[in-house]
Amino acid sequence: MPAAFLDSVLSLIVRTSTDLPPDVRAAMNVAMGMEKPGTQSSQALGIIALNIDLASENEGAICQDTGMPTFEVKTPVGANQIEMKKQIREAVAEATRRGKLRPNSVDSLTGENSGTNLGPGTPIMHFEQWENSDEIEVKLILKGGGCENMNAQYSLPTDLPHLGRADRSLAGVRKCILHAVWNAQGKGCAPGAIGVCVGGDRTSGYVGAKEQLFRTLDDVNPDPRLAELEASIMGEVNTLGVGTMGFGGRVSLIGCKIGALNRLPASFFVSVAYDCWAYRRLGVVLDARTGDIRRWLYRDPANPVMAMADQAGYQRTGREVMLRTPLTEEQVRSLKVGDVVFISGRAFTGRDAVHHHLMSHEPPVDLRGSVLYHCGPVVAKDGDGWKVTAAGPTTSIREEPYQADVIKRYGVRAVVGKGGMGPRTLAALQEAGAVYLNAVGGAAQFYARTIKAVDGVSLLEFGTPEAMWHLQIEDFPAIVTMDAHGNSMHKDIEQASAKELAALA
Ligand code: SF4
Repeated sequence: MPAAFLDSVLSLIVRTSTDLPPDVRAAMNVAMGMEKPGTQSSQALGIIALNIDLASENEGAICQDTGMPTFEVKTPVGANQIEMKKQIREAVAEATRRGKLRPNSVDSLTGENSGTNLGPGTPIMHFEQWENSDEIEVKLILKGGGCENMNAQYSLPTDLPHLGRADRSLAGVRKCILHAVWNAQGKGCAPGAIGVCVGGDRTSGYVGAKEQLFRTLDDVNPDPRLAELEASIMGEVNTLGVGTMGFGGRVSLIGCKIGALNRLPASFFVSVAYDCWAYRRLGVVLDARTGDIRRWLYRDPANPVMAMADQAGYQRTGREVMLRTPLTEEQVRSLKVGDVVFISGRAFTGRDAVHHHLMSHEPPVDLRGSVLYHCGPVVAKDGDGWKVTAAGPTTSIREEPYQADVIKRYGVRAVVGKGGMGPRTLAALQEAGAVYLNAVGGAAQFYARTIKAVDGVSLLEFGTPEAMWHLQIEDFPAIVTMDAHGNSMHKDIEQASAKELAALA
């Protein structure tokens, strides 16, 4: 077994989690240039750019959701794949110990987090042999849960909302892709990039769609028919107006990559893998004898990337509303959709396990006047205490079945997350006097710097991402996207973009 294999894979994992590849940075730069300055999308892109810089400078996770590690490995004939799999697992566990990956592997029956990112099906590893006898290629993609939940599979022919019939043709495929991007809204941390597979069966279609995400954003499809479809999607999709984080705006997608597999005559699947702006994908080519890295894929270490953002940081307009916890009903009722707030004081994290727990147990802390943050942070031991090293918002809609009850029963005044929530929560905000605040998804480094201290933790038995962390925050920026007067920016953008979608039918 090549001696340096484990260390090389570890370097690949750390770099992938912390440093966005140049093609994605370039696409995000174009997106920043397209948005109108001063808009919510433009401000969110500013935070994202700063976050990308902070992550690579400090070797911190770009997003707290470091996703499902998926490795694509090519080996010479005769290489010991059993040993390589063992060492990849070891490298994943070590990267988790070092806080470069969040513990993300959960037993599906008990909900228990393995704490190591190892378990049945985790990480995903695909091996293939190649003719190259003296090199091993290892590619890695880290794709988080928020965008993974926005994947879609269509069985053609079908009828699509706002677009009508999608036939078994490239025109039908086009409609499926447009629908998938519209349907994701801000839940997958737009602007996103999509990999698409036309054909295959249900399983190979999804695998093929994810494989398309290993292409660079600026390549050209070798199949001219698919190249034309990719270009036409990119030419029209941004008229939808979904915008960054679903705030509305001129950029909803930064890349569309399409492949095709043969299918059964009776089936015609279109599978879409939606990836977020935190599109973390890198690779290495190793010396097959030693395991040392010979060269990187997708990046050139000899050409350091330019910083994305002016390091002066978030540009305030002077119209921001400064809030300090505990919040009063009067304070939150005075807020309206579109307001930018900066929160200081105490916030509690809570996501799936906490919300479920609160349905049948009293909260472990007094939540009256509180800020409840939908976040599963990356947390490291710091002496006797804790330090949060990555802490962006998670997708809020998962808490829709619980949120209204939590707000009304326990007096929560502000819920912070991403992607917005549904009608039950909106009604509860109005009834109880509370607001939903949209933070910028994936901006884990940026938000970690607004957390000045961790002064407690409850329900740690749920695992670090799911525990309730007690945080002291300072100047934490977010946008009011659902207010206490029945208004929802998410509903408005979804309806407006549906009209644009219909115009593309
Ligand atoms: S950027 Fe958003 S969708 Fe992507 S991994 Fe992070 S939280 Fe999930």
